Amino acid sequence: MRISEIKKMRTKIGSLRPRRLLLCLDGVPFEIIRQAREQGLFTGFNSPAKLLSPFPTMTNIALSVMLKASAPPGYESLYFDRATLSLQGGVRKYLGWRTPDKIPSSYMRELDYQEPLACEFLIYVAPQKVWRADFRRFHERFRASPQDRDFFAFLKATDGLLHIGGASRLLCALQSLDEILREIIKRDGAGTEIVLFSDHGMNLFENKRTFLKSHLRRFGYVHSARLSADDSRVVSIPAFGLCSYAAVYCAEEETARIADCLTTLEGVDFSLYREEEAAVIKGERGTARIHQRKCACGGGETYRYELIEGDPLELAHISDDLMRSGNLDGDGYATDAAWSVRTLDHIYPNALSNLYGAICHARVQNTANVLISLRDGYFYGASAFVRMARLLATHGNAMRASSTAFMMSTHRRLSSFVLAEEAHDILRNERFRDTCEEH
Ligand SMILES: [Zn+2]
Repeated sequence: MRISEIKKMRTKIGSLRPRRLLLCLDGVPFEIIRQAREQGLFTGFNSPAKLLSPFPTMTNIALSVMLKASAPPGYESLYFDRATLSLQGGVRKYLGWRTPDKIPSSYMRELDYQEPLACEFLIYVAPQKVWRADFRRFHERFRASPQDRDFFAFLKATDGLLHIGGASRLLCALQSLDEILREIIKRDGAGTEIVLFSDHGMNLFENKRTFLKSHLRRFGYVHSARLSADDSRVVSIPAFGLCSYAAVYCAEEETARIADCLTTLEGVDFSLYREEEAAVIKGERGTARIHQRKCACGGGETYRYELIEGDPLELAHISDDLMRSGNLDGDGYATDAAWSVRTLDHIYPNALSNLYGAICHARVQNTANVLISLRDGYFYGASAFVRMARLLATHGNAMRASSTAFMMSTHRRLSSFVLAEEAHDILRNERFRDTCEEH
């Protein structure tokens, strides 16, 4: 795509509202922003909303949903391609310029600033230098940008910094970001609304490795970068970033058995796979199905949590509560809204529509057969990265810390929760008063 075409795609703002600076901080959890505000940072903003990040809680999934952009090929830059039945992408994508083949989702074309590709790795080698340079380049680029357009920037250094430096290092970087934003607020005043948000959250304790491949080997499965059309024992599990989810690609008929084998592996919280029109959750704590159907009123979706054995998502008491309050219909379905308000602070926020969407909708072009959500404290990923550093925080699973990102504005008061699908309207609407209350 030519630069001129890319420029045309960027939002030209009308006169109905001030210009917006949309600033996304990769991987900064709601909890850290809460702490930062307690320390007196970002006081020019209204209270942050909890922004719910979709599962797996990874950048390209989150930003493509939040910006209503095209689904990326896979969960990370190394992904499994169903057309060739083999792994594609990977580290090669990080070399050289960010050419169109290195743009996994269309949201990237909307970005006015993102760090050079190589820095995504350099953050692990020279973190201080990389984040300072990233913040400085963003500020320079923003200062030089035309005043009549929104500006959308993505600061990626915060994610790497948190993974290897933990919360204290990140808070130090946020202090420096706060100074930059204060300067912008002072210069632009009411003329620029700043919307600061993150793509996903992060758990904040040291994580250890889970041994997926060797576990499955004990059950007779062979790992390969390519699936075989005539050997159903071959599985492919892309290993890239050190994250708390994993995506298993396998022969269709092995799906349920693999999820079953995984219930005894240390670190696995639950597996998720599709069985006809239902999403199946299988873990140490039992098995359940999530069913979706259109609401009888013709409006949104309704969901049912069907317990097969145990209660893998710890939602039985909420289901009972919905029944007592008259929110379940005769078949046991409740509206998406009824489930979401009761589960926003649950260990798996908004689990039913989130997990159903992860396996039954096309959040990526090549959906896995089995998606694994690891427990906080465990990761799966490339062995080459394991040797680089200790992992002080990670994300990817469906638990609260990784699922709870944040969003806050200098001009608007947001409601306490924002679903990923609602983010686009807040970021891009032309009106000033919509789902949010005016400042
Ligand atoms: Zn990350």
